[in-house]
Amino acid sequence: MQWFGKGSNNVEDGRSGGGGKTILGGGIGIVIVVLGLIFGKDLSGVVSQIPASAGTEEVKQGVPADDAQGKFVSGVLESTEQVWDKQFQEMGKQYEYPKLRLFREGVQTACGNASANVGPFYCPGDHKVYIDLSFYDELKNRFGAAGDFAQAYVIAHEVGHHVQNLLGISEKLDQARGKVSEIEYNKLSVKLELQADFFAGLWAHHAQNLKDFKLDEGDIEEALTAANAIGDDKLQKQSTGDVQPDSFTHGTSAQRMFWFKKGFETGDIKQGDTFNSNNL
Ligand SMILES: [Zn+2]
Repeated sequence: MQWFGKGSNNVEDGRSGGGGKTILGGGIGIVIVVLGLIFGKDLSGVVSQIPASAGTEEVKQGVPADDAQGKFVSGVLESTEQVWDKQFQEMGKQYEYPKLRLFREGVQTACGNASANVGPFYCPGDHKVYIDLSFYDELKNRFGAAGDFAQAYVIAHEVGHHVQNLLGISEKLDQARGKVSEIEYNKLSVKLELQADFFAGLWAHHAQNLKDFKLDEGDIEEALTAANAIGDDKLQKQSTGDVQPDSFTHGTSAQRMFWFKKGFETGDIKQGDTFNSNNL
């Protein structure tokens, strides 16, 4: 797999400083999200205009040229930008790039504080994918080569949640919260997760051509097994307090594999409506 292209401009490197000084940015983000909740408006656009590094000198834009791990992440993110740019164009929409924040010791987000080992997650409040690099170390150490594509898959899955946010799909879940039973709500959560897996598969389908690599069935199975073995994100919704570790099911491994493969084989976004599918 060759990922080391130019790389994305949207990686924020917070590895050296943790998130300890981002109080200003995080604080304003939380206030705006809360205001959004009170007035029932989507103010996330406002949040994304706040500079990520407000109040801190610790977060650098981009990654050092000699940093293989950072370059890998940046290359994968760039390929998601290329793929989703085109997908949104085809829908007559404009894709808004998410930021990807690398961290190690913990980080403050518009969704609350994340401690180390929380795993990767997406925060809709600030349109950022957060990757805890100790999670990546674990993937690599425990799963060797399989960890490589697993790392790429994790980014593509989180970017899938960003796409759901932009398309208003995650909103459906917000609206259902508190209005349906917990069992119903969990079912919707699973559908959201499986669709993020489908979107990751769709990305892999199109990225293969862009980046000139070839995935076989074994790669995919290994990667998904590796990612599942360690855990996954939880879509972060709370506007205050701490980012919660994963607490609901993402669907069975077989379901996740099914939807990833469906995206991978078809590359067709119309095939990914997990919400109206009887066959999960
Ligand atoms: Zn997820």
